[in-house]
Amino acid sequence: MSASPAPFPGAASTDAQRPAADPATRSVAEKAAEKAAAKAWTVDLRELGRRAGSMREWEKTLPARPGWGVEMIGVPEGAPVHLHLRLESVMEGVLVSGTVDVPVTGQCARCLDPVEDTLELDVQELYAYEGSTTEATSGEDEVRRIEGDTLDLAPLVRDTVVLTLPLSPTCTPDCAGLCVDCGERLDDLPSDHSHEVIDPRFAGLAARFADLNDSTANDADGAQPGSGSTDTEEN
Ligand SMILES: [Zn+2]
Ligand SMILES: [Zn+2]
Repeated sequence: MSASPAPFPGAASTDAQRPAADPATRSVAEKAAEKAAAKAWTVDLRELGRRAGSMREWEKTLPARPGWGVEMIGVPEGAPVHLHLRLESVMEGVLVSGTVDVPVTGQCARCLDPVEDTLELDVQELYAYEGSTTEATSGEDEVRRIEGDTLDLAPLVRDTVVLTLPLSPTCTPDCAGLCVDCGERLDDLPSDHSHEVIDPRFAGLAARFADLNDSTANDADGAQPGSGSTDTEEN
């Protein structure tokens, strides 16, 4: 009677797609994994120190946090996000700059085929010290803040990713989308792909001519190939 195994920490799973379970029913292990995943994105500033000019490279690959996406494309939770950052102590706080590589997956807005890509994003952001002039003169949402001795990089990366993601991603820049009649991808079909559409008002007539052609073909005397059909189409 053992409980089902907990998902691998940070790994994308179908469970992660569902709304968060009731906190009371989540296991201790799940909560610990969640906390560790969040903490991985936190930088301890004690090594950097407060002396302006001191610098530190921060190169890591971290699992993406949940909810980094827009409707048709996003970063799968747990996907490896590569950070190549420089943390620089400045008068007012810590300047974070560098590049972030994030894998994104989604669906083509035109043909619904899967879309996969890696975004290379440039980031540059000042995290203000508590009590600094920058903090005092900026609104709550205008500047990121350093809390105690740490700063959290996840919100910066999330915001940068979400602002970069296209609302209508496409598999190729000129994806032609789907055929409105058969639903197949137009790019997979020959260029002359079309459907012969018979006007419903003439459908009965077309069927009668088909019958007529059958019977005349069987009757050797009265065979008049092609008769009739051209006349009616001119109406
Ligand atoms: Zn497409
Ligand atoms: Zn078609």
